Amino acid sequence: MPLMPVRTPLPNRPVALVTGSTSGIGAAIARRLAGDGFALVLHSRSSAQAGQALAQELGAAVYIQADLAQDAERVRLVREATAAWGRLDVLVNNAGISQVIAHADLAAATPEIWQAMHEVNVIAPFRLVALAEPALRDAAHGGRPACVVNISSHAGVRPKGASIPYAASKAALNHMTRLLALSLAPAIRVNAVAPGLVDTPLTQSWVQAQQLWRERAPMGRAARPEDVAQAVALLLASDYLTGEILLSDGGLNLT
Ligand code: NAD
Repeated sequence: MPLMPVRTPLPNRPVALVTGSTSGIGAAIARRLAGDGFALVLHSRSSAQAGQALAQELGAAVYIQADLAQDAERVRLVREATAAWGRLDVLVNNAGISQVIAHADLAAATPEIWQAMHEVNVIAPFRLVALAEPALRDAAHGGRPACVVNISSHAGVRPKGASIPYAASKAALNHMTRLLALSLAPAIRVNAVAPGLVDTPLTQSWVQAQQLWRERAPMGRAARPEDVAQAVALLLASDYLTGEILLSDGGLNLT
């Protein structure tokens, strides 16, 4: 695949790569960061048309397609993302996969499911941070660290979630967030947002979970993708926060 032309970085405009940003939570994060003045690199595994359309809508944005289950694709994504604007200040590891499996049905959680979940939800975010580290270090300046934000899940904090392999992968992502925060400070801050239920096309049919959030969450509703995007923006704006796992569940954990 040909390398994209280098675009002239706009003066003082930071650049953010948001993985999985053509739908759901990732698209809301991209819109929010564009509104906050970032130039964007959008990404997804498929749906290139939606990616190009969103890039056009946001203006200062390019779209790159890559399968994050493949290491060569991760390498290409970071290379092209860094080349796109000539710098990289922020990496949001939002892309993730999930599968609903009853927790008591141990046989249904096959090794293949465990491996696929780990590959995309744990190994891919780690590799993207490793590959982006030089560019992120270059972007850190004047006491302003570069930033990584991982989109985790409340399922990685409490014994809940769509399936045990999914919850365990998000718990691994949370622990990795703290370990990377320690290793990469002070040049790069690493934090995570751990949403509870979020209203996306995927969760529209999760009737029981919707009811749980309406009845038990102090905020009385599931999150909107924009709520998660706001939490990401908060972490990006807070120069002193690192290693935090920001639970964004409308207070459900309190009840
Ligand atoms: P979504 O299915 O709308 O988006 C997932 C994105 O990940 C897509 O853009 C897809 O292209 C990308 N992706 C998946 N597999 C990939 C691969 N192999 N290579 C490259 N990209 C890949 O889902 P969403 O609900 O917006 O979820 C976004 C993130 O938020 C995920 O990490 C998810 O685990 C997390 N999350 C979601 C909820 C929820 O209720 N929706 C709750 C907690 C956490």
